Amino acid sequence: MTATDGTEAASATSSARRGISRTFIPLDAPLSWACSGRGWNCCTDKDIPLRPYDVQRLAEALDRPAQSLLDEGVITLEWDGYGILGGWLATRPYEETRTACVFYDEAVDAEGNRTTGLCNAHAGRPEACRGFPFQRYADWETHPDRTAMQISDCGSCALATRTTARDVMLDNDLESYWRASDAYAAVVQYLHKAGLANLGGSAYRRLPLAPDARLAFWTALFTHRGPYADALEATLDAADALIAASDLTPAELGGPGDAIPRPDVRALLDPARAVLPE
Ligand code: SF4
Ligand code: SF4
Repeated sequence: MTATDGTEAASATSSARRGISRTFIPLDAPLSWACSGRGWNCCTDKDIPLRPYDVQRLAEALDRPAQSLLDEGVITLEWDGYGILGGWLATRPYEETRTACVFYDEAVDAEGNRTTGLCNAHAGRPEACRGFPFQRYADWETHPDRTAMQISDCGSCALATRTTARDVMLDNDLESYWRASDAYAAVVQYLHKAGLANLGGSAYRRLPLAPDARLAFWTALFTHRGPYADALEATLDAADALIAASDLTPAELGGPGDAIPRPDVRALLDPARAVLPE
């Protein structure tokens, strides 16, 4: 594991990560696109973010404990500028000056030309990889006509087939990931207001917690074994216990505005909950 605690790490993280451009597109607009499966543009020169659910699904698919993936550096954890611990897939050197995902492999022909790509973690590939280059735009309620994001141009890698962003995303088993992302976002918001994030915000007050304890608190979200809902509930329970043990009230923690109620993560994870607009 490479995580540290503090704003220094957070700023280093934000400057080191490679950005991606985003284009908003209608969810059901006809597209001419199909994945070639080569991985030439999506598995190279990218930083793949991981939320706790990504790590859990990846670990299950690899039949390995998440902790061992952290210990071996396959996954790294880093604080972001908001004091939220995020995960990243490791990369390895690729060609002379490039990088590739640690799970990326490729076949070459007799002349050494690349013929196809291979994801060695395909069944457990994270949300960022599923449906690439399209991603759900979570604020679809305020932008009902712009409900998907195209985050990259597949360039010469893609094939030409008539489809839509909705079909591409739904073909990649993303709905459970979206529900998990929504539930995680609600938990993070709760932790933020509870004073368990906000490393860089002078307007926010934090629970007094030693750096090692703060790191362990967040890391537990990534290494929990068992149902994902239990991991989120355990985190909320731990947050409530820390608040109760402090001499601070919820109103004295966090930033401006009212304390938020504890989220109902099981409702957010309910498979019956729709996650795309009709
Ligand atoms: S078509 Fe796009 S998503 Fe598919 S392998 Fe190529 S770069 Fe990746
Ligand atoms: S996890 Fe698989 S699909 Fe995602 S970047 Fe790595 S090799 Fe590519």
